[in-house]
Amino acid sequence: MYFDDYDKTKCCGCTACQQICPKNCIEMVKDNEGFLYAKKINLSKCIKCNLCEKVCPLNNSEDYSNVPKCYYGWHSNENKRMLSTSGAAFIALAEICKKHDYYFCGAVYSDDYKNVHHICSNSLNDIYKMRGSKYVQSNIQNCFSEIKELLNNEKKVLFCGTPCQAYGLKKYIGNKLDKNLLIVGLVCHGVASPECYKKYIEEIELKYNSKIKSIKFRDKLLDNGVLSHKFTTIKMKNGENIISTKNPYTITYGMGLMHRPCCSYCNYTTPIRNIDITIGDFWGIEDHFPRLKNEVSKGISLILIHSEKGEKIIDELREVMVLNEVPYTFSLNARQHQLSRPIEENSKRKKFISTVLNENNSFNKTANKY
Ligand SMILES: Cc1cc2nc3c(=O)[nH]c(=O)nc-3n(C[C@H](O)[C@H](O)[C@H](O)COP(=O)(O)OP(=O)(O)OC[C@H]3O[C@@H](n4cnc5c(N)ncnc54)[C@H](O)[C@@H]3O)c2cc1C
Repeated sequence: MYFDDYDKTKCCGCTACQQICPKNCIEMVKDNEGFLYAKKINLSKCIKCNLCEKVCPLNNSEDYSNVPKCYYGWHSNENKRMLSTSGAAFIALAEICKKHDYYFCGAVYSDDYKNVHHICSNSLNDIYKMRGSKYVQSNIQNCFSEIKELLNNEKKVLFCGTPCQAYGLKKYIGNKLDKNLLIVGLVCHGVASPECYKKYIEEIELKYNSKIKSIKFRDKLLDNGVLSHKFTTIKMKNGENIISTKNPYTITYGMGLMHRPCCSYCNYTTPIRNIDITIGDFWGIEDHFPRLKNEVSKGISLILIHSEKGEKIIDELREVMVLNEVPYTFSLNARQHQLSRPIEENSKRKKFISTVLNENNSFNKTANKY
């Protein structure tokens, strides 16, 4: 248990323990890498209810073995598909849930693009802000408490986040209130240091003498006439665009040089999950269906259905998505590592982060060296 030794590989920063503590004995504290960690305070008030241990998604090894239903597909609206990271399964789910008056909880950029955090909202505008993978850890803030309040008021909520956040929420809400909660977890390569991300953004702003207008990881653009999903596009308010398939932030994120320590010990890198739905990229599906080769760059979503609640939504999802069921074992292939094992710890991680965060160094130059 994390609180026994404060070993950083045992805390994912999901906030479940802090939000459940009835005596406010836990606060979330940022380390120098910008990751939030739970810390016990006000120990004299602690009533030893152990709720903090019970809700920790990293403290509970599950005995869960239900095989999921597995689908590949994409949004039928080409424009929506192009604007999303994979096949726009999230937007499709959101559209269906919106019809049933759901609230949504997902990750958005702060207005200045220097942070990412989760918000709860039922506005369409906010749902579109949730769209797109942000390759930095999202701060859950007080969203778990907000979701509980919404559920207590008979509202329906769709949550989407990393699997550790999804499990943290599941344990925080418990079985009594979860009837109207749909929990969607991502396939996850791991989350990057918020401080490294911020340093990169501030450096770009300085270099281009402008504030950021938008950022898009995995942008889908033409590369020498051929569609590629490997672009990182940063638009500046002064009209300059930084568009590259070799963005130093994206590349060092992919290498795991800025990952949260617990990501290399993640228990949720499996298709057997006890949440409602998992979404990710269906890497490797073209090996089974060669005709799908042309679809890969446009984005093919992987959708794993783990629960009855998830299953109920599939028929409706067909209204807005092209969907085909396949054996779930198709999702386990050489190109989809994060459903069979966590990302390996990069031995240069610590050195990379401390070099990047040294005020005398630049992100770009450090990344080039690595
Ligand atoms: C950090 C990260 C790593 C990932 N690694 C993999 C991987 O290794 N393999 C794979 O197949 N798929 C991975 N994914 C998932 C994939 O990139 C797509 O997000 C997923 O397929 C959904 O795509 P979409 O087109 O349906 O919707 P999108 O519009 O891309 O999905 C947006 C949803 O993702 C959530 N989200 C975005 N950024 C974050 C964040 N930082 N933290 C928590 N939630 C976030 C939003 O809340 C929103 O609900 C990763 C996503 C993230 C954020």
